[in-house]
Amino acid sequence: MKIVVIGAGISGSVCAWKLAKDGHDVTLVEKGRGVGGRMATRRMEGARIDHGAQFFTVRDPRMVELLSLWQYEKAVIPWYDHIPGRPDVPKGQRYRGSEGMTSPAKILAKEFTVETSFFLQRIEHKKNIWTLHPKEDGQRTLEADHLVLTIPSIQLLELFQRSDYELDEDTMIRLRSIRHTRCLAVLGIMDRPSSLESPGTLTHPVPEIDWISDNQIKGISQKPACTIHASDEYSQKFWNASDSERVPSLLSIAEENLNVKIMSWSSHRWGFAKPVVTFGATHWHSSPRGITLAGDGFGGERIEKAAMSGWDAAAAIIGETGNP
Ligand SMILES: Cc1cc2nc3c(=O)[nH]c(=O)nc-3n(C[C@H](O)[C@H](O)[C@H](O)COP(=O)(O)OP(=O)(O)OC[C@H]3O[C@@H](n4cnc5c(N)ncnc54)[C@H](O)[C@@H]3O)c2cc1C
Repeated sequence: MKIVVIGAGISGSVCAWKLAKDGHDVTLVEKGRGVGGRMATRRMEGARIDHGAQFFTVRDPRMVELLSLWQYEKAVIPWYDHIPGRPDVPKGQRYRGSEGMTSPAKILAKEFTVETSFFLQRIEHKKNIWTLHPKEDGQRTLEADHLVLTIPSIQLLELFQRSDYELDEDTMIRLRSIRHTRCLAVLGIMDRPSSLESPGTLTHPVPEIDWISDNQIKGISQKPACTIHASDEYSQKFWNASDSERVPSLLSIAEENLNVKIMSWSSHRWGFAKPVVTFGATHWHSSPRGITLAGDGFGGERIEKAAMSGWDAAAAIIGETGNP
C-alpha cells in the first residue's frame, strides 16, 4: 500500500518506520527542512543546541526495542537518571540524541522516503485515492492509498478547514478539545563554560523558567551554549510581546544561575509544547476513510508517548492490511 505520513516528529517517524518495515511504500512529508519536529537541534555560531525537547524516557517495551536500534546505531546515549541535590526530581534514566535530539528520527528515516520543505496545504480524497497538495506553487502533488496525519491538532483542524474535510461529529469535537501548553525558548552563546555540574540542567529555578541546560555539559556542543525554556504562564503572558520585552529578564536569570555572560541569543516560540488535554485514545483510525491520526495530542505528554502513538497508528493500519 502507498502510505503518506505527514509530520516528521517522533510520532510520524516511528509510524513511517514501522509501516516501511512491514513492506509498505512509505513517504514521510515535513514542512521543515529536516526530521525530528519538536525534537529539534540547531546550529548557532558553531554551537549545537537542543532547543525543543531535551531528553526522553524509555519505559514501554516497544520503546526499549527502538532504544536498542538507536543505541546500535550510536544515535542515542544515556544522559542522567537523577540531578544531584534535587531529591524532588524523580529518578529514572533520561536519554539524549548523540548529536542532539534529532539523531533518533534521522536513524528511522533511513527506512523510507522523506520529502522535506513540503507544507501540506490541502487534502482531497476521491475514488479511494488521496491527493496531497503542497503550499508552494510548482511543487509536485503526492498521491496515496492511505494518509497518516501526525501534526498538532490545531494545525490538523486548519488543514481540514482548508480542505473542506471533516470526520464524524464526535471525533471532530474530541479533536477540537485537544490543548497544548506554549513555550518561549531562548538559545544563548555563553562567554565561558557555566558553573553547573553534570548533568548540566536546572529545572524550575524560578517561576518564570521551567528549564535551563548547558549543551556543552550535556555533551552535544563543543562551544558553551545554553537553552532556556520559559514556563507556560510566562510564555502565554509574553507570547505577543517583542523580544526586547520578554527576553532580557530570562537572560539575566540564566546568567545569574550559570555564572556566565550570554554574548548572543536567539528566541523561538513553541506554540505546542506539552498536551494538557488529549484526544482520549492513542490514535484514531479509519480503514474505509483511508486515514489515521496520531501524535502527542493523542498519545499524551512526552516523546515516549508520542512515539507509541505513532506505533499504535501503524499497528492499526498493518492489522487491517492483513500483513502483521
Ligand atoms: C520546548 C519543549 C520542550 C519539551 N521537552 C520535552 C522533554 O524534555 N522530554 C519529552 O519527552 N518531551 C518534551 N517535549 C514534548 C515533545 O517534544 C513532544 O511531545 C513530541 O516531540 C511530539 O512529537 P509529535 O510527533 O507528536 O509532534 P511534532 O514533533 O510537533 O511533529 C509534527 C510535525 O508536523 C510538521 N507539520 C505541521 N504541519 C504541517 C503541514 N501542514 N505540512 C507538513 N508538515 C507539517 C511539523 O513541522 C512537525 O515537524 C517538549 C516540547 C517542547 C516544545
